[in-house]
Amino acid sequence: MTVSRKKDFIPGIFNYCDRWCERCEYTRLCRLAADLEKAERRRRRKGKDPADDSIDGAMEEVGRSFEVVARALRKRARKEGWDLDAIDTAAIDAHESDLRRRCEQHPLALEARQWCREGMKLVKDLQPLLRSEGEDLQRRGDFMDVQDEADRFEALAQAMEVVAFDSTLVAAKMRRAIDGLLESADETDFMHEIGLEDANGSAAVILRCLKRDRPALVRIYEHDERLEEQALGLLARLDRMEKGLAEVLPGALTFVWPPKAEE
Ligand code: SF4
Repeated sequence: MTVSRKKDFIPGIFNYCDRWCERCEYTRLCRLAADLEKAERRRRRKGKDPADDSIDGAMEEVGRSFEVVARALRKRARKEGWDLDAIDTAAIDAHESDLRRRCEQHPLALEARQWCREGMKLVKDLQPLLRSEGEDLQRRGDFMDVQDEADRFEALAQAMEVVAFDSTLVAAKMRRAIDGLLESADETDFMHEIGLEDANGSAAVILRCLKRDRPALVRIYEHDERLEEQALGLLARLDRMEKGLAEVLPGALTFVWPPKAEE
């Protein structure tokens, strides 16, 4: 991966992306991708696995990022004269847990959690079928033309990959979208705007995912009648989530991503 100079990055492009960096066409313009590459190089220098995704590796990166944020916050507090010790953490905790409870019970959050469970189950059921079809194709490919079948097989494998990736992503982003929606409803003015913007951005990611999930699920539905019912169930959930988001967060429909380079 070749990363651009700092001035070429699009500010905040990573905020409302799907984090599927391997497939992203904006890697060159993304500060987060550059940071991840830097972290990889750091691990390599230390003689660690460059692609380390272990808990230790992740925690090391999280710790580093957290320290950067904490330093920036302390600096800002000094500049603005804020007393960070005077913050009522008990009231904040109570508000957070009430918000968490309401978020978990929201119909769209429930829908997304079921979507995640059923999506993972579909992938689990599809995997052995794909494996045996792949083996069969390989066997027959030695003495007959199986190109068309191989193309269909590849498309099906791609569809499975998309559903697998989006099963968890949609659930996580829905949580954030609903959290922002509820939080913004509790706030006024500036904080209301920030919460709503974040909710719309998160919902926009979900809508982009669902757009690619629809053809992926249709492909799985058409491929094997044993999976028809599961794929149909997920398509129905997809419809409900799309309609529900358009209703509660209409700003998601016009949310612009990637942001303009000059912003
Ligand atoms: S914008 Fe692209 S490269 Fe950057 S974090 Fe998101 S998916 Fe990865």
